[in-house]
Amino acid sequence: MKYDVAIIGGGLGGLECGYTLSKCGLSVCVLEQGNALGGCLQTFRRRGTEYDTGFHYVGALDEGQSLWRLFDFFRLMDLPWHRLDQDGFDEVILNGERFEFVSGRKEFVEKLSEQFPGQKDNLKKYMEVLSDVGDNIFKSFDTADAVDFYQKPAFTQSAHEFLKETISDPKLRNVLAGTSLKMELHTNLPLYIYAQINDSFIQSAWRIEGGGQQIANRLADNIRALGGEVRTKSEVTELVEKEGKLSHAIVNGEEHIEADIFISNAHPVATLDLVKESQVLKKVYRRRISGLPNTFGMFTANIQLKEGIPYLNRNQFIYETNDIWDYASFDTRNRTDATLVSYQVPTNQSPYATNIDILTPMNWRDVEQWDGTKVMRRGDDYEEFKRRKAQQCIKFVGKYIQGLEEHVEKVYTSTPLSYKDYTSTHEGSAYGIKKDFSKLMFTMLTPRTPLPNLLLTGQNLNLHGVLGVSMTSFFTCAEILGMDKIKDLLKLR
Ligand SMILES: Cc1cc2nc3c(=O)[nH]c(=O)nc-3n(C[C@H](O)[C@H](O)[C@H](O)COP(=O)(O)OP(=O)(O)OC[C@H]3O[C@@H](n4cnc5c(N)ncnc54)[C@H](O)[C@@H]3O)c2cc1C
Repeated sequence: MKYDVAIIGGGLGGLECGYTLSKCGLSVCVLEQGNALGGCLQTFRRRGTEYDTGFHYVGALDEGQSLWRLFDFFRLMDLPWHRLDQDGFDEVILNGERFEFVSGRKEFVEKLSEQFPGQKDNLKKYMEVLSDVGDNIFKSFDTADAVDFYQKPAFTQSAHEFLKETISDPKLRNVLAGTSLKMELHTNLPLYIYAQINDSFIQSAWRIEGGGQQIANRLADNIRALGGEVRTKSEVTELVEKEGKLSHAIVNGEEHIEADIFISNAHPVATLDLVKESQVLKKVYRRRISGLPNTFGMFTANIQLKEGIPYLNRNQFIYETNDIWDYASFDTRNRTDATLVSYQVPTNQSPYATNIDILTPMNWRDVEQWDGTKVMRRGDDYEEFKRRKAQQCIKFVGKYIQGLEEHVEKVYTSTPLSYKDYTSTHEGSAYGIKKDFSKLMFTMLTPRTPLPNLLLTGQNLNLHGVLGVSMTSFFTCAEILGMDKIKDLLKLR
């Protein structure tokens, strides 16, 4: 059988494209290399508990908000979403001082103004810019408006510059950027990434009870219900070019899957490696893509707890540093100075947390020496390295969560090497290709490639995270269906 569209990768981006295209009557086959779907949304189960890997919370999911519109279309809104505390969905702990992020743009400004009274007008200006980006998110679907849209300061300025210009108190600048472990802070981070992500969470913040895997599984069910195919354990090992375009994918080294169009949800470097022989993909293009830097990876300690640590319906971002913009240059092997603590919603209504995740940035060079080894067989020195890093994280966070060290029952860990092996992300990068405001058109990729029937999707193109990947999936599908159709599907006109 020849499909209309074959999709390489069953991460969020691949599955969302699969659903949209199936919904429009195209025959679709999603090919996922792993045992489970979801890529970064995967969960793993140990001793009856589900642990998340690359999903902790989403923003803008209240009725009418941006992610709600997209998830309503994908039929994901009846999953067990769990709203985080509106009077403090995130807490930034900076050198021991605590600051709360509250839901609602006005409320956010009011609350932080209590701790920074002299900065109220600056906070208002800050929020105006974030709101403008958040409110106009769908304008990027409109080619006519997009011309003006991309000339806004959000696309021509760095988040770092914007904060310096808008907020005169350096401590407040650190606090405002303090929830940014969900992106990589660097001085050339484009303002639109910072603004879009932060604004979406300020609108409303949500966990999912039972883990992020449910999003992937539900999308796959919805694709199958529309007649599409979704396969796991189906690694695309080659994309074969004939007469200037792709003719078929080779799966697991043997099976041939033919399609008119191919969409790759894999990292662009991994995608190009699959096209082993090509007249169309020039060396200069391959070099350009492989030369793009990637964001840092993450070390995660998934911790099962003994009863006694209260469940917090908020995240905690903890730092011990005077300049959080500098954490990309931290010695992540020997020190832990920045962590995100996320609590999993207890399924038994208990007031106590059953498990928490501690995440901290980790550079590829910290694990590079084990590259090429196989999962579970990387050797004692790797296990010892992970054990020490987990202890470092627990000790660091234990200063702020009373009794944590005594309540640790079991620890499971993952490193950038885990991500590289499970999702084929380049150098275990957590958020994919690093965007740079001064080279925006160079670091932001479009879905098109020089091969006319190979499109890209996923976090590497435009914006990472659940909202970013979902938006990008529509840009990819628009290459096939046209943007007017997308706007009709999302009821945007
Ligand atoms: C530690 C961590 C925490 C995060 N927390 C959050 C959060 O709380 N909220 C949020 O919004 N975002 C979060 N993110 C980001 C978010 O998870 C990602 O941006 C998003 O899930 C990426 O989706 P994707 O489809 O682009 O890529 P991926 O999830 O990487 O999917 C790519 C898929 O392609 C498959 N693949 C690759 N090569 C092949 C091949 N040759 N053949 C077949 N299949 C192949 C992979 O196995 C994978 O399943 C987090 C990320 C990380 C790493």
